[in-house]
Amino acid sequence: MGMARGVVGLAHMRGPLVAGFMWGAFALASVHLRDTHGVFLLVWLPSAVAVASLYVTPEKRWPPLLAALAVAQFTTFLLVDLSALASLAFTVADQVEAVICAVLGLRVLGGRGKTPRSFAHIGGLFAAALLGCMAGALIALPFRGEPSFAELAWWFLASVLGVLAATPILLRARQWLGFGDQTVRFMQDNPQRGFPLTVAAMFALGVGVLESPAAGLLPVLFVAIVFAVIRFGQLAAACAVLAYAAAGALVSFYRGNAAPILAADPAIAGLVLQALMLLMLATALPIAAMLLTRERLAQQLRAQNAQLHDNLTMLNLAEQLAGLGRWRLDLATGQQEWSPQMLALNGLPRDLAPDPGNISELLPDGGERLFSELAAHRDDRRPYCFEYSTALPTGEERTLRIHVTNEFDPTGERQALFAVAMDVTEQVLRETALRKAREQAVALAAEAQKLALTDPLTGIANRRATLDWLGRLVRASGQVGEPLALLMFDIDYFKRINDCFGHQTGDEVLERVAKLARAQVRSDDLVGRIGGEEFVCILPGLDAHAARALAERLCRAIAEGSEQGGLPRITVSVGLALARPGDTPESLLARADAALYEAKDGGRNQVRRAA
Ligand code: GH3
Ligand code: MG
Ligand code: MG
Repeated sequence: MGMARGVVGLAHMRGPLVAGFMWGAFALASVHLRDTHGVFLLVWLPSAVAVASLYVTPEKRWPPLLAALAVAQFTTFLLVDLSALASLAFTVADQVEAVICAVLGLRVLGGRGKTPRSFAHIGGLFAAALLGCMAGALIALPFRGEPSFAELAWWFLASVLGVLAATPILLRARQWLGFGDQTVRFMQDNPQRGFPLTVAAMFALGVGVLESPAAGLLPVLFVAIVFAVIRFGQLAAACAVLAYAAAGALVSFYRGNAAPILAADPAIAGLVLQALMLLMLATALPIAAMLLTRERLAQQLRAQNAQLHDNLTMLNLAEQLAGLGRWRLDLATGQQEWSPQMLALNGLPRDLAPDPGNISELLPDGGERLFSELAAHRDDRRPYCFEYSTALPTGEERTLRIHVTNEFDPTGERQALFAVAMDVTEQVLRETALRKAREQAVALAAEAQKLALTDPLTGIANRRATLDWLGRLVRASGQVGEPLALLMFDIDYFKRINDCFGHQTGDEVLERVAKLARAQVRSDDLVGRIGGEEFVCILPGLDAHAARALAERLCRAIAEGSEQGGLPRITVSVGLALARPGDTPESLLARADAALYEAKDGGRNQVRRAA
């Protein structure tokens, strides 16, 4: 347990130790170059080591890191012969500077492992570096050899350039080297060809321009850094500034002045060059930010395009599965958009998609129905639907159902048509067959109904229908007080007809009698056959007198009409009864029957009225 904790503790100390050693090494090397070779240090790299190490370390582990850095800083300052007080002051200055830069930077980016993604991020990091380094420079100033504006500017500029230019490079290098917590990544991996060569060329350019006596060449350094940023992005600005700083250091190494063209005094020339490099960063970084924004938008666009493409693929699959075709017509441009499935549904080759041109020549009927329907619905605000037929290349006729939406612009002008179609041939066939079957069933039912109520021999109402009807009229007559007359008649000596002429002729006579009786009554009156050769006439609204007259007429008409067409002559006897209050169909029928028998008894071929 204790062992394990010790190992973990050691592992946690690795970062602070490496940071401390790096800080010390960078600082001692810089001071060595300055003191023994007269090199001018335009960029103070140790400040970047401090900021970068804070950046990669979780805030709760900053105390050991800051402690390690403090030890390295204090020791280094003592080693280069500074007083203990100055060493302490510079250590505090460096710590304050690094903490301000790191805290503000993390705040700007929104957390560890975040890279600058916008103009605000890059501007914020720039401001954080300016603030942090100004604080450090002010704390250190009283302890410098001769506190002056130049001293303040030197500390400030060297630190700012270090933080701005070297921090991103150190973070990148850490990632490349695989050092430390690799779950925290600071840049996307986009190795770009030609980048190292470009940095080398900028170093050479820096040497050439700073060495040259022609001051007019200085803007070339600006132009080069802008181009590098446009080509390689934000990191190129940092590398370019370091390359120029290295060029200045090299020039100072053999000329005693980093930029002789800027000023004869090496200190002034160095400061001016530093200021120029800060200006270069201020010029180049907004461009980098703009490019980052553009790249982010382009990435979003690519993602959206990919998504759109996926959706379209899904849509096409779904359309194919559902057998749906899609068509859009832009009325302003005349441009059409046919889905391959829509073309196939219309019997056209799929590869005519998306715009098959003038399709009226391609459709079987010249698209007449399709176009006339579309024209008829031109003002429809709601989607509409119709069917039209088309033919496949095989000649097979198909029915398409098409749903169409008119698209209107804000002024109410129709701009486009959007339609979805599907093949409904089978459905239409099924529906037609179903409709036919239903019609047939209805006809059959009607026929059966009729058969149930009709006497098949004579075609007039049978006994059941007659009694039904009589019942209804008797009830109605009882309620309303309308008169209702009933005739019952029976063929006289019919047995003989059968006997002498045969059953067939008897049937023909029955038919004739029914016909003659029908001819005597009004169309609304019912004539029914209630027995073998017994008939009734139900006569609503007829009073005794009119009924009597009709009965006589009927009797005569049958006697006179029966002979026609070679049939034997027959007569009928008629019983007449009039409905009375309280009558039932049975009582009315019974009275008519009684009257009929009176007529028979009275010698037949005559009318008798019930008492
Ligand atoms: P009446 O004058 O007394 O009525 O004498 P009738 O001979 O008509 O006597 P009845 O009414 O008793 O005879 C009815 C006959 O009608 C008996 C039967 O042979 C005949 N008949 C009944 N139904 C049919 C039928 O559907 N077709 C034929 N051809 N004859 C029928
Ligand atoms: Mg009879
Ligand atoms: Mg009879």
